[in-house]
Amino acid sequence: TEPAQAKPGILGRLVGRTDAAPVVRRALDDEMLEQLEELLISADMGVDTALRVTANIAEGRFGRKLSVEEIKGLLAAEIARIMEPVARPLPIYPKVPQVVLVVGVNGSGKTTTIGKLASQFRAAGKSVIIAAGDTFRAAAVEQLQVWGERAGVPVLTAPEGSDPASLAFDAMTKAEAEGADLLLIDTAGRLQNRADLMEELAKIVRVIRKKDPSAPHNTLLVLDATTGQNALSQVETFRKLADVSGLIMTKLDGTAKGGVLVALADKFGLPIHAIGVGEQIDDLQAFDPEEFAKALTG
Ligand code: GDP
Repeated sequence: TEPAQAKPGILGRLVGRTDAAPVVRRALDDEMLEQLEELLISADMGVDTALRVTANIAEGRFGRKLSVEEIKGLLAAEIARIMEPVARPLPIYPKVPQVVLVVGVNGSGKTTTIGKLASQFRAAGKSVIIAAGDTFRAAAVEQLQVWGERAGVPVLTAPEGSDPASLAFDAMTKAEAEGADLLLIDTAGRLQNRADLMEELAKIVRVIRKKDPSAPHNTLLVLDATTGQNALSQVETFRKLADVSGLIMTKLDGTAKGGVLVALADKFGLPIHAIGVGEQIDDLQAFDPEEFAKALTG
């Protein structure tokens, strides 16, 4: 599969896509900076972050004539600098089972991401159990079972509409009894009734802490990159609902909105544990800040 990430090619749009473009020299003046800001905002970086990035680039260089290649390099370096601290693989705790709660709105790619994660951990020789905690969405449970089969991982389910916390408790019991390395717990993503969802997530956490006070070891928020700036408000919302410890950004294949990752890193500083770059089981990659910055600046 194509390791394609964001595809806006920001700098390409600054000068047009001619062969001569990279060597065209432009003064780093107000007009240029404004154009850069607009391009960054159009790549969904958000106004605050775009302004900060361009200000940092201009610092000590204002008015200087630079080639587009040089500007591209500066921009990529600045973006990579913001992204480096958040690029962190999912931390592995010695605790067995390591419990990972997966949260996010419906459609963000939670089910797919759990399948991909399960497959990666299986490939690394870990024993994995999945709990289909979105008991209100029969389709989600079925999808998760399909992913479990693909990944070679058992999926624990409960009758439709039953209490997700009791499923989580059963899953903890089973994972402990079997000495499983990792327990991935899916959760509901209905934001229509936030109070209910908050109570549901809190109850799951309470119940699994009865089994292991240090659990959940990670609470992953899955975000859909194609929602652009919406991802920012989803982080804000889910941080109120759960103790989000890190992010996985899906659908970075073929979106021009990858800039939102920069805004997220700049605003929240939450670790980005992985990125989804397609619908297949292997389409989950570690987040590479330099590669990302290069793809984004194009
Ligand atoms: P959920 O409702 O949050 O569980 O979302 P799903 O896992 O069912 O994903 C919703 C849709 O997004 C499905 O059609 C997935 O195939 C698709 N999807 C998930 N992750 C990615 C990704 O990284 N890239 C692409 N292109 N599609 C994805």
